[in-house]
Amino acid sequence: MADKRDYYDVLGVSKDASADDLKKAYRKLAKQYHPDMNPGDKTAEAKFKEVNEAYEVLSDSTKRQRYDQFGHAGVDPSYGAGAGAGGFGGGFGGFDVGDIFESFFGGGFGGFGGGSSRPRNPNAPIRGNDINVTVGLSFMEAAKGCKQQITVQRLEKCETCGGSGAKKGTSPETCPECGGTGQVKVQQRTPIGVIQTTRTCTKCSGKGKIVKEPCGDCRGMGRVRHTRTLEVSVPAGIDDGQTFVLRGQGDEGLNGGPSGDVNIMVTLRPDTLFERDGFDVWCDIPITFTQAVLGDEIVVPTIDGKVKYNVPEGTQSGTVFRLRNKGIPYVNGRGRGDQYVKVNIEVPRNLNAKQKDALKKFEDLSSDRNYEKRKSFFDKLKDAMK
Ligand SMILES: [Zn+2]
Ligand SMILES: [Zn+2]
Repeated sequence: MADKRDYYDVLGVSKDASADDLKKAYRKLAKQYHPDMNPGDKTAEAKFKEVNEAYEVLSDSTKRQRYDQFGHAGVDPSYGAGAGAGGFGGGFGGFDVGDIFESFFGGGFGGFGGGSSRPRNPNAPIRGNDINVTVGLSFMEAAKGCKQQITVQRLEKCETCGGSGAKKGTSPETCPECGGTGQVKVQQRTPIGVIQTTRTCTKCSGKGKIVKEPCGDCRGMGRVRHTRTLEVSVPAGIDDGQTFVLRGQGDEGLNGGPSGDVNIMVTLRPDTLFERDGFDVWCDIPITFTQAVLGDEIVVPTIDGKVKYNVPEGTQSGTVFRLRNKGIPYVNGRGRGDQYVKVNIEVPRNLNAKQKDALKKFEDLSSDRNYEKRKSFFDKLKDAMK
């Protein structure tokens, strides 16, 4: 984190590059490092993120100005503040310069309930919370991808007051105590002289504005919780325990901050025919003694439907056949796994007299030639028991 590259270097432009230069440089690099062009390439992925981040800042004139003045600390709240998070685009959004100095110099000096992670400036944008949802899928739904409806309860901007928290027809008033700055100056007489400090205005809690008559719908909070049904495209190939993200579908941010995400975790219900092993599919098929001996065309279920497979003459019980590229599609990539088919001979039961008779006749006609393993076993047995 401390070694973030200079955004102008990332885009390969000079400090006085025009908006047009930036856009051209960005498009070229974004295309070059795009994940679709570089599947599975972690370096390209990191570069792509870096390029996006650099462009997000430099293409916004306000952020660019802050960046020019203060470097990364001017645009990234987690930079140098020890938060350690960051990395997710969209986390920037008007970070107040005053806040940076507070977090640099204000932290650590005890007595103020130190260590609080609450932003000092109550007007600073705050990203909305993420919402976590679990969705249960069948084997086939996960293998082929599907549409699902999920229900979330999320905080959205109050329509009635437009998010201001003030009753319809009124608007928040400038705080008379601090004149709208949210801060008041306090003078303290100490043995080393008069010290002037600033503290957060208590009348408005630092907001600089006062809501006299709160909006009835959100009780002055500016956000209300709604139950929403979202249609979700589940990517083909997703596995049990994996999560995918709906960006910006979580709680609405505060003070113009970005919305949170909806994280959808997948659980898979067991299937009666198929078992999954990563991107491979396993399936057990019982065959008859005769099919195994003489060979036969059997029907194999796959995720694409039924296919025919020729079991060769003399197939042993437990033999595993591989059907290439009949497995699960790779999530967000090309190609797919294989399907493994294990054939097990079902020993027949409940035979009638005629069937028993036929088998006995067959046995009488059999010789060691038909049973290599059996023969070698008895040879070994003979040697061992001498
Ligand atoms: Zn409201
Ligand atoms: Zn105030």
